[in-house]
Amino acid sequence: MEREVRVRFAPSPTGPLHIGGVRTALYNYLFARQNGGKMILRIEDTDSQRFVPGAEEYINEALAWLGIGIDEGVREGGPYGPYKQSERRDIYREHVRQLLDQGRAYIAFDTPQELEAARAATPNFQYDASTRMGMRNSLSMPREEVDRLIAEGTPYVVRFLIEPGRNVEVNDLIRGRVVIKSDILDDKVLYKSADDLPTYHLANIVDDHLMRVSHVIRGEEWLPSAPLHVLLYEAFGWQDTMPQFVHLPLLLKPDGKGKLSKRDGDRLGFPVFPLLWHDPKSGETSSGYRESGYLPQAVVNFLALLGWNPGDDTEIMSMDELIRKFSFDHCSKSGAKFAYEKGKWFNHNYLQTLSEAELVAAFKPVLEAHGVDLSKYSDEYIGQVAELVKGRANLAADLWDQANFFFEAPDSYDPKAVKKRWSPDTPAQLEEMISIFDTVPDFCGPELEPAVLGWIADKGYHLGNLMNAFRLTVVGACRGPHMFDITRLLGKDEIVKRMRQGIERISCDGPTV
Ligand code: GLU
Repeated sequence: MEREVRVRFAPSPTGPLHIGGVRTALYNYLFARQNGGKMILRIEDTDSQRFVPGAEEYINEALAWLGIGIDEGVREGGPYGPYKQSERRDIYREHVRQLLDQGRAYIAFDTPQELEAARAATPNFQYDASTRMGMRNSLSMPREEVDRLIAEGTPYVVRFLIEPGRNVEVNDLIRGRVVIKSDILDDKVLYKSADDLPTYHLANIVDDHLMRVSHVIRGEEWLPSAPLHVLLYEAFGWQDTMPQFVHLPLLLKPDGKGKLSKRDGDRLGFPVFPLLWHDPKSGETSSGYRESGYLPQAVVNFLALLGWNPGDDTEIMSMDELIRKFSFDHCSKSGAKFAYEKGKWFNHNYLQTLSEAELVAAFKPVLEAHGVDLSKYSDEYIGQVAELVKGRANLAADLWDQANFFFEAPDSYDPKAVKKRWSPDTPAQLEEMISIFDTVPDFCGPELEPAVLGWIADKGYHLGNLMNAFRLTVVGACRGPHMFDITRLLGKDEIVKRMRQGIERISCDGPTV
């Protein structure tokens, strides 16, 4: 019988979720949904030293923003909980005991100083079959001494006993069959008595079994942990439920070589986190895709294609399409360059497809950030403005640069444009234009444009100069959408007010022509 697909995203709450982690979560989600399986969110918080307050909430919020749904987790609950490792101590303790009883693990008392000395004395020191008998552990010391030290409360760790001479086979859906010699592995620490907690290694693997995980889909940097996964499953007698491994390619710097880092984002000006993050310790703030004006659909689409392709050139794909098309067969082994400019391209595309209501929702926070009093504008007005300028925007934030004059009158006039378009006759011609406005029944109706253009033609005025001078008074520069779209939205009073203000200011302090 086919095994039920159960995947897990297992972040450690040690800081904001990195964009690479988001991609891992996304691939897990796509695979789960495609196969009618379950997506588990497991919080791996057994390293109390590295715990960062707020990180778990951040993970939840980021996944929710992106539409990466969770079936079983801390908040969702589920049949194999708790889903937070710090709440599973008893389970791990029991498993550590089982390995000790079976002689598959042993107790070690070496202090950090002793380990340091061993490393200093032996080049490439590794705690393994060749060195363990020279260290202080339950294999090298008499039983009574071990018992005495434990009774005295001496801190100890439990290490996994790795037998040399084994070929450990890891089957990976992207990398194929990978064989690792057990000789190169060290006796990994599985548990620390000092905080009565397991290490990542034990907790991660025990939970994969207990939570019935069918596929371990994670970043390539975890590939070195896979042989331990295999050996521990064997030691516990769980071979038949061994998960299928999938190690995803790294995300690489947009330029040059190596792994994408936060510093690349700072250097090149793009976020490497899904949401804005305030570091509680350093007080440092890191930018996020959401706050930078990206749409979640665009971020999902962009990330999906970093390391996977649908087998053809299709680029724009909704979550549903991604779920249908996703396949590990089309995942690359080599790292994927983080082409952040392409992220903007995706966002531009998605921005064009939003409904007017969605566009308004995306634009409002940007307006607020620029100090616009939203109570003064209807959603209809904001929506119409956004519709007019969205074609030139990549991010919601760009809408402001394209449309600021719909919310505030210009406070300066582009001097180059003034020089080119403004002449001593301009003020009188603009005044005349204002009187033409009075001849049309509805300033915001379709009659205005032919009336103004007809009048300019009749008078033999210079069309380009006059219309641009008109635009200058309203916009402050020679840019923006069609002039009669602007007049329609701003309305007669505001337009006339700006024209008179322009006439006054440009004639007084503008460059003389
Ligand atoms: N807790 C690990 C992390 O932070 C999990 C790695 C895995 O998925 O096995 O990514």
